[in-house]
Amino acid sequence: MKKQHRSLATPYYLCEEELLEQNLKVLDYVQKESGAKIILALKGFAMWSTFDLVSRYLKGCTASGLYEARLAREEFCKWNPHAEVHTYSPAFKEDEIEEIARISDHIVFNSPNQLNRFVCKVKEINPKIEVSLRVNPEVSSSPVDIYNPCGLYSRLGTTVENFDENLLKELDGLNFHALCEQNVDALEEVLKSFDEKFSKYCKNLKYINFGGGHHITKKGYDLEKLIWIIKEFKKKYNDIEVYLEPGEAVGWETGYLVSTVLDTFKNGMDIAILDTSAEAHMPDTLAMPYRAEVRGAGKAGEKKYTYRLGGNTCLAGDIMGDYSFDKPLEVGDEMIFEDQIHYTFVKNTTFNGIKLPSLAIKRKNGTIELIKEFGYEDYRDRLS
Ligand SMILES: *Cc1c(COP(=O)(O)O)cnc(C)c1O
Repeated sequence: MKKQHRSLATPYYLCEEELLEQNLKVLDYVQKESGAKIILALKGFAMWSTFDLVSRYLKGCTASGLYEARLAREEFCKWNPHAEVHTYSPAFKEDEIEEIARISDHIVFNSPNQLNRFVCKVKEINPKIEVSLRVNPEVSSSPVDIYNPCGLYSRLGTTVENFDENLLKELDGLNFHALCEQNVDALEEVLKSFDEKFSKYCKNLKYINFGGGHHITKKGYDLEKLIWIIKEFKKKYNDIEVYLEPGEAVGWETGYLVSTVLDTFKNGMDIAILDTSAEAHMPDTLAMPYRAEVRGAGKAGEKKYTYRLGGNTCLAGDIMGDYSFDKPLEVGDEMIFEDQIHYTFVKNTTFNGIKLPSLAIKRKNGTIELIKEFGYEDYRDRLS
């Protein structure tokens, strides 16, 4: 393994500004060509030390509750005072709704119940706030069930059956979110269902938010078709505003997780233990699941030396997978997991007391900045 950035102690995530900006430029191209506004879903990527850059391209953030809304207001809007904060939650709480109303430009309710319960209070606190309802188009080709918001008995969004025309007088827009790492054909299907079910309610609305899950920055994504679909939609709906709110597409392939081999031995096969964890630091590799690429490694058996890479926790299943290498692994070798910037540190835990990976940024001028290091106190202070 190439030994680089030896000055930073592993494990750490390194986000490369140049790669992030490449993604932002692709997203901005979609904005400019289609007329849609794109906002960042903080749930997937929230490294706010990059927001000076992100806010130059994206029009705001979408938040899933009070803390994300605060982060958007405090760390995104400070760079761009025109940036918008959109806040959605499966259910808002009485003791948080006032602050959410104060710091949000848009509020998105999940159900007619929630809207009826809070809309007056929200508009009283923030008369300029725009109000939306998340609807469920009941169509999704999401690859896995845990990421399918439109599956059977879904709690996310209001079905057309539960939609009530009386809500329209309160509504400025409608939201849906039905995709996960998908190309335009999946959006087309969802839009068809949205049209069938909800177009009759869109006449006087200001905007429709197409949610996230658009894999816009992935190689092979059909940008031109997305632009065409948005333009057609706007034409059909009297130049209605369209929002997209990707998370993953912003952080997609913008950096990696660097770890170190701590030990190797055999038990039926070669095993290596790393100073990171699939469970705590790459949770989607187990939840989705998917196999993270390791720099310089092949699939099991592809190269001469195959190892099972495992994490440094006591969970038996804390395993990244089987990978092969040209040379035997040695203690101290660096192991780089590619594309670990989205849905990783936003989900990290200190399970088993394992150290949280540091956060680092490679700036556009090439310097590597250690942004944040975590220690024992971060573990201790969450537990009592
Ligand atoms: C998760 C989520 C997003 C972002 O999804 P990505 O797959 O990261 O693009 C956007 N909107 C809502 C409502 C979400 O729940």
